[in-house]
Amino acid sequence: MAKPNKKGPTKTVDIFCVACNCLLFKYRKGGKGALVKSFKERISQDYTVESCVCPKCQKPFARETLIRGLPAYKFIGGKAWFK
Ligand SMILES: [Zn+2]
Repeated sequence: MAKPNKKGPTKTVDIFCVACNCLLFKYRKGGKGALVKSFKERISQDYTVESCVCPKCQKPFARETLIRGLPAYKFIGGKAWFK
């Protein structure tokens, strides 16, 4: 297994619930572009209590999936935003 590049994504974005603006994750996002998925290993802070469910308004914002064999969350369109 290749080791993750230490100089991988270093920019951290905050990911919020669209419905209530609750902070969900701090995430080391690589590259630019839309927020479609997030690898669990790149989440630096996880504020959720239940997987994929907003801790404040209890709305699901993502689904658990595997991307190239790695556990990840795939965001449900229009349920989360980041800055
Ligand atoms: Zn919410």
